[in-house]
Amino acid sequence: MTDYKAYNSRNFKEIPQISRLSDEQQKAIGIVSQVLPFKTNNYVVDELIDWDHFEEDPMFILNFPQKEMLSGYDFSEITNLIDRDAPKSEISRYVNNVRLKMNPHPAGQLEHNIPTLNGEKVQGIQHKYRETMLFFPSQGQTCHAYCTFCFRWPQFTGMGDIKFGMKQADVMVEYLKENPEITDVLITGGDPMIMKAGILGRYINAIIDADLPQIKTIRIGTKSLSFWPYKYLTDDDSQETLDLFKKVSDNGIHLALMAHFNHYRELETEAVENAVERIRQTGAQIRTQSPLMNHINASADVWAKMWRKQVDLGMIPYYMFMARDTGAQDYFGVNMKKSLDIFREAYQQVSGICRTVRGPSMSAGPGKVQVAGITEINNEKLYVLNFIQGRHPDWVNRPFFAKYDPNALWLNDLQPAFGEKEFFFEEEYRKLLKINKLPGRSLSSEDLQSA
Ligand SMILES: *Cc1c(COP(=O)(O)O)cnc(C)c1O
Ligand code: SF4
Repeated sequence: MTDYKAYNSRNFKEIPQISRLSDEQQKAIGIVSQVLPFKTNNYVVDELIDWDHFEEDPMFILNFPQKEMLSGYDFSEITNLIDRDAPKSEISRYVNNVRLKMNPHPAGQLEHNIPTLNGEKVQGIQHKYRETMLFFPSQGQTCHAYCTFCFRWPQFTGMGDIKFGMKQADVMVEYLKENPEITDVLITGGDPMIMKAGILGRYINAIIDADLPQIKTIRIGTKSLSFWPYKYLTDDDSQETLDLFKKVSDNGIHLALMAHFNHYRELETEAVENAVERIRQTGAQIRTQSPLMNHINASADVWAKMWRKQVDLGMIPYYMFMARDTGAQDYFGVNMKKSLDIFREAYQQVSGICRTVRGPSMSAGPGKVQVAGITEINNEKLYVLNFIQGRHPDWVNRPFFAKYDPNALWLNDLQPAFGEKEFFFEEEYRKLLKINKLPGRSLSSEDLQSA
């Protein structure tokens, strides 16, 4: 039995290994964690972090805020405020301004993907791609530890405005009934596996009991295998959790754990290996995904080794994401050219069994855009891009081209190739946003005119 113990900005000095940090390094954690949420736990601290080399350790950087994640100016301003014992309100005003500069809600997450049911906005649901509904259970909006690069960081600081209605399970089922094109429910957070089995079970049972033949897959987005594998081993609800997974499969619904791993080191403990094994015995599949992050995993060898290890354990590599345009992007961001090089070099090293992975992919407003390659046509050097998912399903798998730019970080840094004014999807995208059409519903000619 391993008991969970969380550490945060208030109690991290109780971590036994923290004495290896200088006073200045400890103070920096306190300062940066004013801005970015900070949480780690005894498993990460004892089993994942290499304390002999913590300064460059990807597992340390994954959880512990680093001085360089803030601009030098903001870091010293906050230090001054704290050193002169400024009133709390003054500190939080400054801190909030710093957060607002960090693009807290990238890709229009809050405005654009919230659907309506009977004319009312449905809180706790996002529906962007036709087949897949995202569901955010209110009790699953925290994690066993926080990633310093997390794009959901505002919600952990109390700035996020995900709102939840009452009777979430009933509303979700009603929404699924109204939208029969949805085949996948993706339960997400935070980390839904922070929920006790009984609570997760209420949502899952609601889907099973509704007996909707179109629902083929329930996915759960989680980092629990990396941050707290005991959820499946020794927690008091571990058996109940596994039984719930089995119940999904027994009812003819595919359960896919969308497991978030950033580095092969997270796959090397006995606890994670056993947890993966027990989950697979329930009939659930585990698909893996990760962003590509400077200071964490910006190396082809790390990715190749991670994919191989995942496959060895029976998991299926699924996505490599590009660092999102939020949070400490200067610190973590890897530009498009380099992301592509790392992806390709890693992909070339592994066998076809690992090549289920897709990337590098940008989760942008119009969809998930894969940077497929660099090429040259008529002496013009170009990026080849491709939608893996589109706000309009027709956009998917239609390669398009952008001018090569070695410094581009994100889709909106790119210019269309061949002197075109805009990319092929842009006009339609503006219209879709304006009329807030449900994903995948075809546009009528009136829609297009009214927009
Ligand atoms: C990635 C994503 C999905 C799932 O897409 P798949 O390609 O089916 O994995 C669904 N909704 C949103 C908003 C997403 O970003
Ligand atoms: S586990 Fe996921 S949601 Fe939680 S902090 Fe990490 S990236 Fe964010």
